[in-house]
Amino acid sequence: MSTSSKFYQPRHPEDSPFFKVLEANFDTFELNYPALYQSKHGFWRPVIRKSLEKFMRCGDLREGFAIVRCKDCGDEKFVAFSCKQRSCCPSCDKKRSIILGRRLTTEIIQPVAHRQWVFTIPKRLRIYYRMDRRLLGRLSRCAYETMRELFRSETANDTVLPGMFSAIQSFGDLLNFHPHIHSIVTEGAYTEDDKFIPRPYVNLRVALTIWEDKVCDMMLREEKISQEVVNQIRNQKHSGFSIDNSVRIPAGDNDGIHRLAEYIARSPLSLARMISVDPDGSVVYRASNKSCIPYPLMGDETFKTGVKRNFQAFKPLDFLAEVTQHIPNKGEHQIRFYGRYSNKGRGYRQKLADKQEEINRLLDIRHRVEEIKIRSKFKLYWAAMIRLVFEVDPLQCQKCGGEMKIVGFIDSEAKARDILISSGLCRDRKTRPPPKALSPPQKPVKYPLLKEPPKAEDFGDFTCGEYIEPVPDYETCDMVSPSNHEVAEWTE
Ligand SMILES: [Zn+2]
Ligand SMILES: [Zn+2]
Repeated sequence: MSTSSKFYQPRHPEDSPFFKVLEANFDTFELNYPALYQSKHGFWRPVIRKSLEKFMRCGDLREGFAIVRCKDCGDEKFVAFSCKQRSCCPSCDKKRSIILGRRLTTEIIQPVAHRQWVFTIPKRLRIYYRMDRRLLGRLSRCAYETMRELFRSETANDTVLPGMFSAIQSFGDLLNFHPHIHSIVTEGAYTEDDKFIPRPYVNLRVALTIWEDKVCDMMLREEKISQEVVNQIRNQKHSGFSIDNSVRIPAGDNDGIHRLAEYIARSPLSLARMISVDPDGSVVYRASNKSCIPYPLMGDETFKTGVKRNFQAFKPLDFLAEVTQHIPNKGEHQIRFYGRYSNKGRGYRQKLADKQEEINRLLDIRHRVEEIKIRSKFKLYWAAMIRLVFEVDPLQCQKCGGEMKIVGFIDSEAKARDILISSGLCRDRKTRPPPKALSPPQKPVKYPLLKEPPKAEDFGDFTCGEYIEPVPDYETCDMVSPSNHEVAEWTE
């Protein structure tokens, strides 16, 4: 067996165009950030360096690896770790979205029709979400409250709950800052005794009014805007708020849910759309569709927009500024479940399921069938988690198709290096050039809507030590992470 066959198709992330721009420019970007970008993007967030440093080691065997062995033919492989960072590693974002799709369709989504709902806010409000990222979660909550109120009025029942899954997106098609909420929502709502009341036709105008009320009330409560600003926005012919629910997924269309979940939880950055990178690191980035949208001018996103286009050319530091503004802070959940699909709702369903299980236990054969089903579900989940943590699926032998088991970890960098050097497979790391300070600093932009300049504490947790994400980063409106109890179950 040749040594190279021990490797599962190394991905060489250092060859990607994003990696190259990052490697050549990141230190300069960080050094010049206060002068060039702070007035537009807020204070430097340490999570940016932490995330990107991890991204640059994603899938790199030199950082350590797992050893897996086939139970049938004894073949061994080395498998690199992936970085699990959010919104800056397209590879890990992709895996996370696939796991999410699978989790939704196997554990959460009920067999009823769903719709995608997209909630947007006026341009002039966007800046507050960049300066105070906690507002993003509140915006997502407003979207849920809108749906709950809408279905309560549509069904004339004050206690019904829709099932809702939301992804907070902070990005537009050309990496610009554009906070909005994508949701998958049941086409109807559940009563307290768990009866589903379908509502295929709802009044969108009513929905929009509720959405406007919810967001304006929240922004007032947070003391971000004054009543005068609210009046200005709402007295315009087009308030700038919008709602779209045109995408429908029929009951039982799990593939449709899966595709949509992958789409709405996708990475802000697409490597395929970095269509050219100059030697100096300048990037041309294209939009996902051909239609042209106005791209905001650098430094003045709030009020003006630039020429309509379907691509954007970036200087390297500007490109990094646009990409890194979408990296979430530690503990900032981008995926949320509400109502019938929240933990609480799922707990209620669990109680019903427990009752059912008791009945099944009495009917012995049924009980055994259920048991097998539960076991295979966790097996599937475990396999999906492994795929997220490691670079490739290590559980299937490429030689004989048998099942691979993890038999060891090489987690010390020095040890990994020794093994790789002795195999003749260690690529040398390039040394990064020292960062350059640029001058002169950009003129600060004034934001007339801000009542006072943002303070450091407005930017969330700066004191994070290790950047560990619960994986996957699910959260519900009840702030209980379902991943906690499932961790115990993986380690069977
Ligand atoms: Zn094998
Ligand atoms: Zn990664």
